[in-house]
Amino acid sequence: MKELKQLTRREMIKGLGAGTVVAALSAALPNERTNAEDLVVEQQRVKANRAFQRRTAVESFAFGDVQLFDSPFLRAQERDANYLLQLEPDRLLHNFRVNAGLKPKAPVYGGWESVEPWVEIRCHGHTLGHYLSACSLMFASTNEMKFKQRVDYIIVELDQCQRAGKTGLICAFPDGSVPLDQILNTTRFVGVPWYTMHKIFAGLRDSYLYAKSKLALDVLVKLSDWAIAHTRNLSDDQFQKMLNTEHGGMNEVLADVFSLTGETKYLELAEKFCHRALLDPLTQERDTLDRLHSNTQIPKVIGFSRLYEVTGDTNYLKAARFFWNTVVNKRSFATGGNGDGEHFFPPSDFERHLASAKTMETCCTHNMLKLTRSLFTLEPSALSVDYYERALYNSILASQDPDSGMMTYFQSTRPGYLKLYCTPFDSFWCCTGSGIENHAKYRDSIYFHDANSLYVNLFIPSSVRWQAKGITVTQMTVFPDSDVSRFRIAARQPVRASLKIRHPSWCTEGTIKVNGNLFTTSKQSERYIDVERVWRDGDRIEVTLPMSMHAEPLPGSPNIVALLYGPIVLAGRLGKKGLAPGTDIIINERTIGDVLKDEVTVPRLRGDVEKVLQQVKRSTDSSLAFRTEKIGDPFDVDLIPYFRMAHERYSMYWRVGE
Ligand SMILES: [Zn+2]
Repeated sequence: MKELKQLTRREMIKGLGAGTVVAALSAALPNERTNAEDLVVEQQRVKANRAFQRRTAVESFAFGDVQLFDSPFLRAQERDANYLLQLEPDRLLHNFRVNAGLKPKAPVYGGWESVEPWVEIRCHGHTLGHYLSACSLMFASTNEMKFKQRVDYIIVELDQCQRAGKTGLICAFPDGSVPLDQILNTTRFVGVPWYTMHKIFAGLRDSYLYAKSKLALDVLVKLSDWAIAHTRNLSDDQFQKMLNTEHGGMNEVLADVFSLTGETKYLELAEKFCHRALLDPLTQERDTLDRLHSNTQIPKVIGFSRLYEVTGDTNYLKAARFFWNTVVNKRSFATGGNGDGEHFFPPSDFERHLASAKTMETCCTHNMLKLTRSLFTLEPSALSVDYYERALYNSILASQDPDSGMMTYFQSTRPGYLKLYCTPFDSFWCCTGSGIENHAKYRDSIYFHDANSLYVNLFIPSSVRWQAKGITVTQMTVFPDSDVSRFRIAARQPVRASLKIRHPSWCTEGTIKVNGNLFTTSKQSERYIDVERVWRDGDRIEVTLPMSMHAEPLPGSPNIVALLYGPIVLAGRLGKKGLAPGTDIIINERTIGDVLKDEVTVPRLRGDVEKVLQQVKRSTDSSLAFRTEKIGDPFDVDLIPYFRMAHERYSMYWRVGE
């Protein structure tokens, strides 16, 4: 992919307005609030938010304005919803109650939540945070009260725990506040306590934003105040030393607390949570990512992007943009995933890492999509959506077991290996947590808008209600099985607006018809095609974006390629050797690569890349199924989209040549 632009006009007007608002807030706000002051805070919050909005060029739509129709995405959402309802809040709350001196109401879950060998990572309680986010997103997506009821129940419980605990801290570590006390005292500590706390902070934020729980904001503010009080005495050096340990997106979520309350003390803490060891080189556009833990870095950078949004400090934007370009263009596999054994490796070493079963942690892609989305709202670009689409289909949609609804940890590039999924009640990996969020929010990035334009980013059957313009746009498509998408406008009255249809990088020539007549033929990809006119009720748009077979070499290895049809990575079906039903659902992610490692023959494809592409034939039915013809050595192979591959051995990269 090409790079995102390096300079924008928006950068020139850095800090416009918001600095003043922030300074005013800082002077005006006392620490303790009375009811009358609540109103002032609310007014200032609105003002502060207005200032932030100057930096976002586009807005997303409320979940309630977007409907999903039948598609793999809707089915993934339904499986996720089903799983969320099987989890028991009282079990997730177990340790929170114990730490508050309250009697637990149900036994604790296993896996990362309580048992060996994971006790030392101190991720206890991370699932509850993700669960709050997922149920809140699911409520916003479906409007089903049972998700809101679960959120409300948990928030009431957490409020009770917070009151009983008296300090403001709520946590589920088996040794109470000890891991946090130790990391704050810079004494010896275990695990990743701030990483875990970030999930709880974020769950409370999402409960407020998506499930409308006012109480969640109160709990979040008290928890944030606890964080301020307990980090107050750290010197800058001590703080930075603390940040050498994984701490999720603490800078991001505290920037959110600032924007929700208008209180600058949270912004100050958010900025303290910026890890200079990453921020400084990124600001200087230096790539120092080799051997760093991937999922530790990405959330910090989401925080940088968010901090640009709320402060206008262009160093944050520069850092976020450089990181994105580096990871997407130099450090990603064809599916949009990155890393091996959770770590970035030197970009010259892809071939060596290809045989690993521990490439591409799903959380990393989850977070890269969050970062992409954040940057897109600041600087809308069809190029960044190309990455979003690539990773959404080939990693996120690909991460869910179509039968059990369970989720992948690594998505292995090892030729002949397979996807392994978590168990429902005994794993609770990081990727289980981010996974339950993934499938609850597909509708958040299909459409965006500014004052006059509707951005159509993804080709997913759906509709969007654009209230400001009084129109609803309905998209009907079976993409990627077909390259035609049809849109219909419902308008209360004629209205002028622009529909910006994305022309993706994988399509050389797209055509757009309006009401059956050719509107334009576009030969320039990686941009939006502007369809501006006065829209009337019943208007129809037909978008044809032909896909073709193409090869993408493994970085640095021109003779090892992935095969793609449009944005869809195709994987070769290599059978079920050694695989009995259910054996690909595992408790312990650490065994990935050690289990089910039967020898499997992976054919090489004879001929140069051009010949290989000619000899991959599409089946005549409508599904995206292909087969190599007379080039496979020792045998030809069936290819299907990687996102449809499950319970079967596969390869997504092929050696080509004579
Ligand atoms: Zn993970």
